[in-house]
Amino acid sequence: MPPNANTINNSPDELLDGSNVAALDESKQTGVLFECDADTVDGALDVDIVPLKKAEKRKLHLVWRNIILFGYLHLAAIYGGWLFFTSAKWATVFFSIFLYSIGVLGITAGSHRLWAHRSYKAKWPLRLLLIIFNTCAFQDAAFHWARDHRVHHKFSETDADPHNATRGFFFSHVGWLLCKKHPDVIAKGKSLDLSDMLADPILMFQAKYYLVLMPLACFILPTIIPMYLWDESFFNAWFVCAMFRWCFLLNVTWCVNSAAHKFGGRPYDKTINPSENKSVALFAFGEGWHNYHHVFPWDYKTAEWGNYSMNLTTAFIDFFAKIGWAYDLKSVAPETIERRVKRTGDGTHEYWGWGDRDLTTADKEDILIINKKDE
Ligand code: ZN
Ligand code: ZN
Repeated sequence: MPPNANTINNSPDELLDGSNVAALDESKQTGVLFECDADTVDGALDVDIVPLKKAEKRKLHLVWRNIILFGYLHLAAIYGGWLFFTSAKWATVFFSIFLYSIGVLGITAGSHRLWAHRSYKAKWPLRLLLIIFNTCAFQDAAFHWARDHRVHHKFSETDADPHNATRGFFFSHVGWLLCKKHPDVIAKGKSLDLSDMLADPILMFQAKYYLVLMPLACFILPTIIPMYLWDESFFNAWFVCAMFRWCFLLNVTWCVNSAAHKFGGRPYDKTINPSENKSVALFAFGEGWHNYHHVFPWDYKTAEWGNYSMNLTTAFIDFFAKIGWAYDLKSVAPETIERRVKRTGDGTHEYWGWGDRDLTTADKEDILIINKKDE
């Protein structure tokens, strides 16, 4: 059994009952924070993880093919952004926003919350829809995305983290895609259990035919549809619906790894870099509540609150839960969150309810209690 298989295989319920000492011991061996509010004596927090959160000084091996392609993409996207505001037809503008939105959902509700974290389950029609959305977003096959993301969580901010934020903002944003992976990413990545994903035929189908499906969904159809359906020019269709839309989506996703690992409060755990970043949450449909997410990665909301305006992905999953296509949605009990905030938070947590330390005496005295029982 690979060293971390316990952690990946166990359901959150098993981890939370505090009996899974083996998983915690292994977590200490790997030297990274076990991202779970397990009711153990120390919650694995007596291990000083700070010295481990660093990047080895090494010469980066640049991948020039990617540097040239991303260079072209960003120049093309700037031109596409200009066309978006000045010459594209309204239908093209709306179509590019639509493509952006389904792309985000394919990443957030699909490869992130469903496949990487298993924070909910989805029936095959929803998985099929998500894999189509995910292919439009071109961030590699959902299987590979989810595998790298598990490595990111398990070995967060060490050399084994693909986009180790301790190497700097640029590296965690896009630099990690412009050079060869650190050998630790590959070595530690192999230790993770991916059997659940390997057993999903929809996920495997996408991975197998990715080089056919992706160009079709991300570039060819987004360019052809506006040209044939509403007579848009090739330039407007290509630069707005393909280049600008895709580049914007990539940068928003990358901000989760860069900005949301740097800027913002840390109300749930001040010992880790992931932070609560509203702007990222807005554009990435709820993925900016990143301090919470690294502490409770199995919560399908990736946030404590169920606020839809700052978390459209939660609204999307809740809708499919209503029609029965999404089920077994996992969340975290308020008491668990409160305990964690008190133990490791940085003091910026706004409010969790009755008993909050910011509650004034006057507020407490004026409280209206309905159906009061004398104890
Ligand atoms: Zn992260
Ligand atoms: Zn995650």
